[in-house]
Amino acid sequence: MFELTDRVAIITGGTSGIGEAIAKMYAQQGAKVVVSGRNEEEGQRIVKEIEEKGGTALFSQTDVSSYEKVKGCIQQTLDTFGTIDILVNSAGIHDEYKTVLEMSEDEYDKLMDVNLKGAFLMTKEALPVMLEKGKGNILNVGSQGTFVAGPGGAAYVMSKHAIDGLTKQLAYDFGQKGIKANTIAPGFIETPMTEGIEDERLKDIPAGRAGKAEEIAALAVFLASDAADYIQGAAIKADGGWTVGR
Ligand code: NAD
Repeated sequence: MFELTDRVAIITGGTSGIGEAIAKMYAQQGAKVVVSGRNEEEGQRIVKEIEEKGGTALFSQTDVSSYEKVKGCIQQTLDTFGTIDILVNSAGIHDEYKTVLEMSEDEYDKLMDVNLKGAFLMTKEALPVMLEKGKGNILNVGSQGTFVAGPGGAAYVMSKHAIDGLTKQLAYDFGQKGIKANTIAPGFIETPMTEGIEDERLKDIPAGRAGKAEEIAALAVFLASDAADYIQGAAIKADGGWTVGR
């Protein structure tokens, strides 16, 4: 029911954490996966692991904040697989909970370049391919910070609110042309991003634990599949209930 046979999927931030889990689960469901990221060694490791299980994958070295690199990733995908069906914008960086007062202009610009401009550029280049075939699925990775303050500092929370704006506007502008866009809003997930953050932060989660990257990947599989065809422009939480009381 949730199969993605022969769908071509690009996953940014695909070399670790949630992106890696999505790449692997998409491949398991039959998708041809483009593991887009900066770390070649990690990217090739993931491609190998996917191929060893009979899947199809390609590593594309991409810094999403560089328009040239983004264009290169799209071209490499088209040269190798011929099309793009699914784009997952998972690349992101955190701001170590810095307030407006603590964050420099350079730090702010860097975070926005990855968390927002990266998603904008990837979408800008993938969309024409999707529009030409009249079908495409874009998933933006938000956060609890899409809904509430606290999961990051000012810039992170701003960026995660804003990425849902991109989702909504994509649905608004292109929904009737076959494009679906949704935001996935993970809670506290065990990945390199949350490594070393104190367990104290977990005590309020109704689920009683942190989440796993695979639990976010499962949602990404569902949202990319035909089973989720009527879910459009939505921000879906997978946070163990954390935001009900924040
Ligand atoms: P992660 O650090 O493992 O993944 C982020 C990835 O983005 C890394 O692979 C990193 O190299 C990549 N990246 C950073 N800058 C980049 C750039 N300029 N170009 C391309 N890639 C770049 O952490 P994660 O938890 O898997 O994060 C994935 C997404 O999930 C992020 O958008 C993050 O904000 C979001 N998220 C994570 C959590 C959590 O608790 N882990 C919660 C909510 C949202």
